[in-house]
Amino acid sequence: MKSYLWTLVGLVGVALLMFDDGSLAAREWSTVSAPTRGAPRVIGEVAGGCLAGGVRLPWDGAGYAVVRVSRNRYYGHPSLIRYIQALGSSAKLNGLGNLYIGDLSQPRGGPMAFGHSSHQNGIDVDIWFNLRQAPLLFTRTDPARELIQTPSMLNFARTGLNYSLWSPRHARLLEQAARLPAVDRIFVNPHIKRELCRTVKYDRSWLRKIRPWHWHDDHFHVRLVCPEDSIDCVQQASIPAGDGCDQSLSWWLKLRIPALRPRPSAPPPVRLPERCDAVLYAE
Ligand SMILES: [Zn+2]
Repeated sequence: MKSYLWTLVGLVGVALLMFDDGSLAAREWSTVSAPTRGAPRVIGEVAGGCLAGGVRLPWDGAGYAVVRVSRNRYYGHPSLIRYIQALGSSAKLNGLGNLYIGDLSQPRGGPMAFGHSSHQNGIDVDIWFNLRQAPLLFTRTDPARELIQTPSMLNFARTGLNYSLWSPRHARLLEQAARLPAVDRIFVNPHIKRELCRTVKYDRSWLRKIRPWHWHDDHFHVRLVCPEDSIDCVQQASIPAGDGCDQSLSWWLKLRIPALRPRPSAPPPVRLPERCDAVLYAE
């Protein structure tokens, strides 16, 4: 009995230590205010990596505006910056609305003190489903950038979409987002994936890149492939063949409804590639 208790105490201790390690690391990374100089490089994995030579996404561009800028998470590899600018322009040209851009990565990537376990190496971005028809006119320090909200696209019971908010414009935006080059995958709520599976006709090839995932009912999450210049970028396992409108989606839809919207939890401790130390501590 005694040894069992000591084992338990030991395990709890190790768990606490690991947790503390993780949050300490996240605090360090989140207080770095500027990217490193030099060539942009994506290092490690999306949920255990960092970003050298990060590029800042301008706060305002054709068809998009960055929101919640106080979080200082508007840095990415140039491929991600180009991607967002291209999607903004295309959404604007096609009359889909103006995009609110949420988190990319911190100036040097790395774990975040709150909000995500991925977004660590400059190839992830959150784009809100809140599409605005009028151009986005924020002043640089407009409080609206911080306060603006994005509603859930799900109904109140969270059993399907809220059709007073969801529109074919959203589906077209996801199609354009999935068709741009360099996209690896896009995460949306399972109910949104189901809607696309039901409604997209003719060319459904792009549906493969749209992946069901927890949450993601008020924004979609775009992940790019590892850029060619970044040999230390670890590419995620490739997505299965097919349009994904199959048992894998039914599995998600069978989950208890609250499971589709878990409470955000502290990021798990991550082991970063050694190269990230140099990124964190560079002048
Ligand atoms: Zn995200």
